[in-house]
Amino acid sequence: MRLGSIETGKMVIYPIVDKLDDEGHQLINWVAEIQRDNAAMNDWNHKGDLKDFLGIFKDWRFPWLDVAALIANAEQILEYPMVDKDPVPQWTFGRVTLLGDAAHPMYPRGSNGSAQALIDARVLAEQLALQAGGDARAALQAYEQLRLAPTANIVLTNRSVPPDFINIKVDELSGGKPFADIDALISQQELRAISDHYKQVAGFSLEAATK
Ligand SMILES: Cc1cc2nc3c(=O)[nH]c(=O)nc-3n(C[C@H](O)[C@H](O)[C@H](O)COP(=O)(O)OP(=O)(O)OC[C@H]3O[C@@H](n4cnc5c(N)ncnc54)[C@H](O)[C@@H]3O)c2cc1C
Repeated sequence: MRLGSIETGKMVIYPIVDKLDDEGHQLINWVAEIQRDNAAMNDWNHKGDLKDFLGIFKDWRFPWLDVAALIANAEQILEYPMVDKDPVPQWTFGRVTLLGDAAHPMYPRGSNGSAQALIDARVLAEQLALQAGGDARAALQAYEQLRLAPTANIVLTNRSVPPDFINIKVDELSGGKPFADIDALISQQELRAISDHYKQVAGFSLEAATK
């Protein structure tokens, strides 16, 4: 689930382990994304402090999910900076190339950190297989040729029209007020167009997946 928008407080909530016990409980990971002018760069294992953000979500109690309780009862909270870097023009240097976060660190939007790293690995393996017994350096060049521009496009799109642009747009259309029916604000067609645009950019469209 993606709830809210980054301007006012946003939650991303998803199960990571199904059926933890006989009652069918799930282990849930949640992420609270908050924009702060004075956010400092920290390491990747900085302990998070509940009081820094619980206030934003304290009234988020839906009949189907008590977000405030979910946060307050977490076993562990960690705080990470949001980091991306401008795309670079070259990854391959002779017999060395870059892949994944080393090649294109991006904002965590649309699960594209690991997804794009996996696609890089697949394309690199394919190119190496094509060059089997030949010059591996040509495979690294071909891999870069195929992957650098698409991932650069994702880095930039994640800054301007991320997949949660839907949340931002609806927040704007509703004036940040609760609403009962999303169809009164935006058509299903427009919602689909936003979603399809991001899928095209990220390479997750049906036609890309079935190629
Ligand atoms: C809190 C958090 C949540 C995330 N959630 C998601 C998500 O839901 N979906 C998603 O798609 N992505 C998510 N990401 C991003 C995702 O984890 C990364 O994009 C992905 O792991 C990148 O893979 P990678 O193989 O490029 O790099 P990494 O996974 O960072 O792997 C690099 C490896 O190199 C090792 N290493 C470093 N230096 C050396 C060295 N000198 N010698 C040998 N080994 C070395 C490191 O120990 C590490 O194991 C999340 C990231 C964070 C921090």
